[in-house]
Amino acid sequence: MSIAGNVGLGDLPRICPLISRRVQESADTMETRVVQVGAVRFGDARPVVIAGPCAVESREQTLEVARAVKAAGAEMLRGGAYKPRTSPHDFQGLGVEGLRILREASRETGLPVVTEVMDPRLVETVAEYADMLQIGSRNMQNYPLLVEAGKSGKPVLLKRGMAASLCEWLGAAEYVAKEGNLEIVLCERGIKAFPAGEYSRNVLDLNVIPAVKEETFLPVIVDPSHATGVASMVEGASCAAVEYGSHGLIIEVACDEEGSPRPKCDAVQAINPATLRRIVRFIDFHTDLRAPRRAHAV
Ligand code: PEP
Ligand code: MN
Repeated sequence: MSIAGNVGLGDLPRICPLISRRVQESADTMETRVVQVGAVRFGDARPVVIAGPCAVESREQTLEVARAVKAAGAEMLRGGAYKPRTSPHDFQGLGVEGLRILREASRETGLPVVTEVMDPRLVETVAEYADMLQIGSRNMQNYPLLVEAGKSGKPVLLKRGMAASLCEWLGAAEYVAKEGNLEIVLCERGIKAFPAGEYSRNVLDLNVIPAVKEETFLPVIVDPSHATGVASMVEGASCAAVEYGSHGLIIEVACDEEGSPRPKCDAVQAINPATLRRIVRFIDFHTDLRAPRRAHAV
């Protein structure tokens, strides 16, 4: 007798046929689907680096960080205009003003923008400003939100729920796919498991990367910032994720120049631009190592 709602990987062809490798034709040979956001390609040989502040807190802060992450080699900008905060008394984000600032930072740097949308009623508004919609960990199973994100046709960055199984996560992706939107990138961001909270914010589940690749053709990236919650762990977690086959990283960055504002949101996990530069260098090195040997240049 099985328990209601208890599902395993064997149920995936039924739960998420549209994104299941096992169901789709020529599944065994199917490459990862490349999800394109502007000129950025998730699922290609080179892992993509998305970087930026946790939250858009002001125009000055966002432009400064955007310029710094561009100079460090990031290919996409992140930043929340709508923030899911534990306390309703904490800074909730700048809303539409934050979206405008992100658009300005994007135009100046040429970096496409990903930003979180928490409310199905705001999908259209956020989609007007952003190049990619982020569904946060807390909203992974907000089905009306997933449906609206699917309908928008915009690329979606779907974070893993902090206590979600792989089946639940891929089931959530299927809601987006069912609306005809296969522009989905999955993002592992750490799970609540022992010993989360003792020396790190969450437990980074690197094993899920090869497991995702086995079950679906959608690209998968890693958020080492929320997975660790500790700035000094972010570089190691990033490199490990890339070694483990992640198609990219999404990293929180704060500038540490004299006079740069300290972030109100997630300051202890933000790395500085110099550390981001080292992570990008690691990716350069890693990608070169894995590239097929080029014919001798003439
Ligand atoms: C974020 O990336 O800004 C965020 C809130 O992350 P998560 O949803 O993974 O907690
Ligand atoms: Mn954050």
